[in-house]
Amino acid sequence: MTRMEPATPPPEPPNTPEPEVYDAEVRPDDVDPDALKVIRRLRRNKHHAYLVGGGVRDLLLGAKPKDFDIATSARPNEVRALFRNCRVIGRRFRLAHILFAGGKIIETATFRRDPTEEDIVEDDESRRRDDVDLLIRHDNVFGEPWEDAMRRDFTINGLFYDSEANTVIDYVGGMRDIRGRVVRTIGQPDVRFREDPVRILRAIKFSARLDLGIDPEVVEAMVAQREELARAARPRLLEEILRLLRGGAAHRSFWLMWELGALGVLMPQLAMHLDDDPPEARLLWGRLDAIDTLKRAGALPTDAVMLAALLLGPIEEAVDGAKDATRAYEALMQEVVDGLAVPRRLKERVRTLVGASRRMRGGKLGALPRREYFDEAATLFGIECHARGERRPDWLDDRPAGEAVARPRTRTRRRRRHPGAE
Ligand code: ATP
Ligand code: MG
Repeated sequence: MTRMEPATPPPEPPNTPEPEVYDAEVRPDDVDPDALKVIRRLRRNKHHAYLVGGGVRDLLLGAKPKDFDIATSARPNEVRALFRNCRVIGRRFRLAHILFAGGKIIETATFRRDPTEEDIVEDDESRRRDDVDLLIRHDNVFGEPWEDAMRRDFTINGLFYDSEANTVIDYVGGMRDIRGRVVRTIGQPDVRFREDPVRILRAIKFSARLDLGIDPEVVEAMVAQREELARAARPRLLEEILRLLRGGAAHRSFWLMWELGALGVLMPQLAMHLDDDPPEARLLWGRLDAIDTLKRAGALPTDAVMLAALLLGPIEEAVDGAKDATRAYEALMQEVVDGLAVPRRLKERVRTLVGASRRMRGGKLGALPRREYFDEAATLFGIECHARGERRPDWLDDRPAGEAVARPRTRTRRRRRHPGAE
């Protein structure tokens, strides 16, 4: 009797979700040739490699991508072995930076996933994540492409572009949202905003900058979770606020922040100023509009100018009519500085610029044209003229471009840590 060979068991069903694959309407010319080179070399060496993140999103939306990031199955050391011009950076999660001419960096990261409970226990017993506290505190771990897509914040940011097949690989429903031009979280919005409240500001940034709608459930969660912003790292909050100012859609961004109540959490002084609605409050929208106009003209103001323009309303409200103007100013600024961890140099610069631009409004130029901050102060003053609909004095446009900034800088020596310890 011949025994039948036992049938080989069917392979385990893979629990890897199947992505949707779309033909991409992307012209290869629109993609950075150096990024394509990196992908080609990784693939020739049997690794998976895709373009990911903001670059893919912008390409698909018809916007100009700022930069292109790559996600790959290759580990950082394997990437380094393939590229001479490569630096591995990051202590917590290591990334490869591949350097090209002109200081261009192509960031190449290994696919990773959000850590599971086991990873965390393994990682560090004492730092275990409890159920109530969803704030991500743990380093990510290497993962599969679909896991790498799922850990990202919004569906429009979770797409992979396969530059060789010219296809988009979609594990997160991002293509539907690109077509519908809508910001939607990957997964439960409440959970994703509690994990990382900075995502609330990122949703605002993408909606404002790319003129996208926000899914109503996502809006609801942004409002419900806005207080969580107070728990985020303050330098990240300042950086995100500066990005909102720099993005070319400062007006829309801050309007959305105010409307959704995020401004009240991050900059209560500014939100109160708008809520109280003194006649000057609405000048803020004009100032932000001026910043957006300058950005479009390729003349984005410095961070200090933008921050000063943002705060000018509450500053003037506090200072004008105060018995002790200096004290009123300091008290207001200290709150802002504490809330957002504004570095001291930036804070001091704001003070200088506000003072100078107020003197310019008073028509007193005096020695200002000889100051190294003259150009910045003049920009702030120009923003103010725009907001108030006032005529720009002739000197503002006649001043030789860059005259003040071209002066040799007086270097401030760093104070020694141990004076006299020589
Ligand atoms: P931008 O054009 O402003 O650079 P971006 O989408 O590229 O927008 P980055 O901050 O450069 O934003 O991040 C790159 C990618 O990393 C994002 O597209 C997203 O997929 C992911 N990412 C960034 N920040 C987060 C976050 N807080 N939570 C989850 N994923 C994030
Ligand atoms: Mg980016």
